[in-house]
Order: sequence, then C-alpha cells, then structure tokens
Amino acid sequence: MAVALLVAAGSGERLGADRPKAFVVLAGRPMLEWSVEALRAAGVEEIVVALPPGGSAPPGCVGVAGGATRSGSVRSALGAASAGEDVVVHDAARPLVTPAHFTAAFAALAHADAAIAAAPMTDTVKEAGEDRRVTATLDRSRLWAIQTPQAFRRAALERALAVDDAVLAAATDDAWLVERAGGTVRVVESTPENFKVTTAHDLRVAELLLGERRRG
Ligand code: C5P
Repeated sequence: MAVALLVAAGSGERLGADRPKAFVVLAGRPMLEWSVEALRAAGVEEIVVALPPGGSAPPGCVGVAGGATRSGSVRSALGAASAGEDVVVHDAARPLVTPAHFTAAFAALAHADAAIAAAPMTDTVKEAGEDRRVTATLDRSRLWAIQTPQAFRRAALERALAVDDAVLAAATDDAWLVERAGGTVRVVESTPENFKVTTAHDLRVAELLLGERRRG
C-alpha cells in the first residue's frame, strides 16, 4: 500500500497572492486539489497533507500542521501516515502532475531507494563566482531538472529524515537527504509541463493548461 505526503504548507510569498499558494484557486478549484485528484486516479488512497496555519485538508485527506521548512513538513506528514511500504512526496505547487507521474515513480522504486521525476535540461548550465566570472560549463547531457513526485521506500525516507533541523533546512528536495544517507536515487523522465508554480506568470500558464485539461 502506498501513502502520499502532499506538502502544501508554504506561504508562497513570491506569488504575491492573498492566501497561501496551495489554496489559490486555479481553473476553478484550490491548487492542492489538482494533485489530490491525480493521486486518487493513480490509486493512492491515503493522502496526508502538510498545511499552513488556518488551512484545512481536502475531503478524505488527513491534515497535519506543516513544519518551518519543506523537509520539516515532509517529516511531520510522514509521522501521521499509517503503515505503508512506499511513500510518495509531492509539492502542492505542482498542480499539473498526472497519474502517470506517480505510477512511473512507484515502478522505478523496484531498482532504488528513491525514484524522482526529472526533466532533461534544455538550457546550458554554467557555474559562476560572486564576481559573475564563469568558472565552469556543465555537461548538459548528464543534467536533470528535479521535480516532484519523489517516491521512496519508507525505511529509506525515515532514515534520511532522522537528521537535525539545520540539515533539513539545507535540503531543497528530499532525495538529497537519501543521497547523503548513502541510498540509491534514480531519475524518472518527466516533462517541463510538470512545473512548480512560483510566480504570477506560472500561475497564469497553469490556469490556461488546467482550464484546457478540464474542457477535455
Ligand atoms: O517554496 P517552494 O515553492 O519550493 O515549496 C515547495 C512545496 O513545499 C510547496 O508545495 C510548499 O507548499 C511546500 N512547503 C511546505 N512547508 C514549508 C515550505 C514549503 O509544505 N515550510
């Protein structure tokens, strides 16, 4: 049985909305509900949602108070999840996720401790110092832009999250915590369409795409 942890506790300051990002209405429903629908269509029944202050969980989901950091929210949600072999973590800020993203991540867990959605990089990535002088150009053929869903064997995720708050705060994704604990992490090819809504521009694009999806 798989359990989903939907992290929705961020304030979404960069969006400039009048409410926490996950609750901004997008193509007719609060943003987090798009992910709940995709999870259910993928057959995931237990969904624990990490919530911002004052937020309530969608019907049929379990709500917990989010943490001070993203991985802190994941840890709180995992603590409220009942037993389950596999766990999938998803950002409520990625409402364009599809059921196929979840099933592909679970399938790839057969060969790893963690399987994470990722899009091949299309931009060239360079490293630069504080003075903006370029110090390296990375080999794009080996680079992936990491997204969620991120699926984990539960024991590996529990071990990875058993770290102090400073380490949790440094994590921009949970798979990094598994990597530093010595676990194996595999990428599962995704597309840029599963982007994270961060800015007002992203919100507009997501509204158009989800509106299209809704009209079929
Ligand atoms: O801040 P960012 O957009 O990277 O957040 C990614 C996801 O993590 C969002 O869905 C946000 O709601 C969630 N989050 C959280 N708890 C925090 C910070 C972010 O659940 N303390």
